[in-house]
Amino acid sequence: MSDQTPPLAAPELGEPYLLTPGPLTTSARTKRAMLRDWGSWDGEFRALTAEMRTRLLALTGDTENLLDCVPMQGSGTFSVEAMLGSFIPHDGKVLVLSNGAYGLRIAQTLDYLNRAYTVIDKGDYMPPRGPEVTAAIDADPAITHVIIVHCETSSGILNPVKEISDAVAASGRKLLVDSMSAFGAIDLNINEINYIAMVSSANKCIEGVPGFGFIIARKDELEAAKGRSHSLSLDVHAQWSHMNKTGQWRFTPPTHVVVAFLEALRAHEAEGSTTGRGNRYAKNRDCLVAGMRDLGFETLLKDRWLSPIIVTFFCPASAAFDFDKFYTLMKSRGFIIYPGKLTVVDSFRIGCIGQMDEHVMRNVVAAAAESLAEMGVNNAAPPEAALIERARLAA
Ligand SMILES: *Cc1c(COP(=O)(O)O)cnc(C)c1O
Repeated sequence: MSDQTPPLAAPELGEPYLLTPGPLTTSARTKRAMLRDWGSWDGEFRALTAEMRTRLLALTGDTENLLDCVPMQGSGTFSVEAMLGSFIPHDGKVLVLSNGAYGLRIAQTLDYLNRAYTVIDKGDYMPPRGPEVTAAIDADPAITHVIIVHCETSSGILNPVKEISDAVAASGRKLLVDSMSAFGAIDLNINEINYIAMVSSANKCIEGVPGFGFIIARKDELEAAKGRSHSLSLDVHAQWSHMNKTGQWRFTPPTHVVVAFLEALRAHEAEGSTTGRGNRYAKNRDCLVAGMRDLGFETLLKDRWLSPIIVTFFCPASAAFDFDKFYTLMKSRGFIIYPGKLTVVDSFRIGCIGQMDEHVMRNVVAAAAESLAEMGVNNAAPPEAALIERARLAA
């Protein structure tokens, strides 16, 4: 971290840390930035929107001015839908690489949009791999686009986007990336990952508050998207051209959220941009995982696949363990954790993102130890079935 980084302050008294993948714990500065009202048409606010777009583009590694950034009102899912509806032609076909809830949501969205698609469904957490993508494309020449979730937040797996990008490029197809929970902490450099469009949102690794998402796309693809969207409000081309012409959002922007996000982007730069942010999150994860393993907990994923975003732990086998009770005991100690999303074995998740550092993570582990003791769980080891399940995961 650079010297300018403000120290991480605990949330306001009585406010728990959100160990969740967004909304997450934001800094006092980011929250304070919302204490002013802005006219959306005013020159000052237009300048803030322009600065935000420039700062986001600076994180892409785009030195050739290939890309542009289009913010979009709504939660992250709105931006995913906007991206799909705007960049997939009506006669296109998408290969969806799914290994969790967000991949399945993309497939569901394509149903709504009436776009042809096929899914490689790897289940709860197995990673999609390059050779199977190549094989799927070879078997189905109708496929025009491939979409991958960068960090699948439902398990916390960091998917091999470089491997997938190389396979897609070698097959001459186009790549889209849902980098919602990764962008800003894990590099998504356009010179390495050859995407035509990617999407993320305000309340993940940039550490803003919820209220909008943004699409970063190639300008030639933005031009080609004219008239393609199914939706007036989610039309990325229309938002882009209006914003470039007038400096304004087409419809009422979440002004306070935008100003808070810009404050968060300045803090992101001061922390050392994507590298600095990613390093802090990786330390958070390492401290958390080591401490929880000391208590007997096991992670769903092997180390190679663990993202610095969120970690899935198996629930202990002990009959005295009850997740709802554990949740309440953790909350009473100032930490809000997250239920798991696995279908086969019980699990829970702990996020590593937001205004937290390794000192906070040590306190999280201490709170987990106390909560287990209070429930009468003296060993947090998972059931045998969990370890058998995990053994399926490639090394
Ligand atoms: C958070 C997230 C989304 C968007 O979820 P919203 O609840 O609509 O903000 C999409 N994809 C991934 C991978 C996410 O982590």
